[in-house]
Amino acid sequence: MNPIELSFEFFPPKTQEGLDKLRATRAQLLPLKPKFVSVTFGAGGSTQQGTLDTVLDMSKDGLEAAPHLSCIGSSKESLRAILNEYRSHGIRHIVALRGDLPSGMGEVGELRYASELVSFIRAEFGDWFRIEVAAYPEYHPQSRSPRHDLENFARKVKAGANSAITQYFFNADAYFRFVDEARKLGVDVPIVPGIMPITNYSQLMRFSEMCGAEVPRWIAKRLESFGDDRDAIRAFGLDVVTDLCRRLVDAKVPGLHFYTLNGAAASKAICERLGV
Ligand code: FAD
Repeated sequence: MNPIELSFEFFPPKTQEGLDKLRATRAQLLPLKPKFVSVTFGAGGSTQQGTLDTVLDMSKDGLEAAPHLSCIGSSKESLRAILNEYRSHGIRHIVALRGDLPSGMGEVGELRYASELVSFIRAEFGDWFRIEVAAYPEYHPQSRSPRHDLENFARKVKAGANSAITQYFFNADAYFRFVDEARKLGVDVPIVPGIMPITNYSQLMRFSEMCGAEVPRWIAKRLESFGDDRDAIRAFGLDVVTDLCRRLVDAKVPGLHFYTLNGAAASKAICERLGV
């Protein structure tokens, strides 16, 4: 099997126990030689220090760690300060996002969309950062129309993104079609599929509802039927997500980006089954 570039996404832990767990996760995933790992950022800067601390912790032993940065609810001045701090630590890779404001909270800020954040970073920091942006094969939940969302995605890439990572999906065809349509709009950067391992039915349904990812009915029905049998959920989830990844790898996707939720077991099991 051809080597495939892997990346893993984490969130900043809030407790010492969470940090210990994340370090153990990192140790288990390191042998898979990820191209990079990334660390999420709470909207409005709520995890600002936690994101940086986690990135620095993850960067030990030469692992490339990319912080996420969202612009919603932030001033240019505060974004500039965060980017300067990232640069002062030698960080050269970030995931640039709009983010979501918690409902009823705060002002939109000076930059309304991720495309504006990408332009801002390029204007102020030149080529210092490698920039990833988000892509939505099943379309962003707030988008006016699929066409409009695709055009906005293309705008974001043309503003200076080097690569994109998708929202997770279980319909491979949605991804293939999205990539085809983006290419027709002149998007030529890698569009790496985001992969959500399935380990918990209610959590998966809750996340999917929020982010607009579709859980196909046959998957939801099977997961629901397992009730509290977590082993059965994990075993079925492993089959389904490995099959999805195999289709993607066979189609020569540029990489796989795993939403780990700070656990190693599910992502590792999928990679082992894939033989990567
Ligand atoms: P944008 O690209 O700005 O798009 C948002 C919406 O605005 C879309 O509907 C788009 O069509 C529309 N739009 C864009 N430009 C325009 C325009 N010029 N005019 C009109 N409409 C426009 N969230 C976090 O808070 N922290 C994280 O760390 C985080 N990491 C993520 C990582 C990945 C890989 C992904 C896929 C998502 C992540 N998210 C994160 C979630 C993300 O912040 C939300 O999905 C958010 O709602 C949109 O962010 P975006 O960067 O895709 O926004």
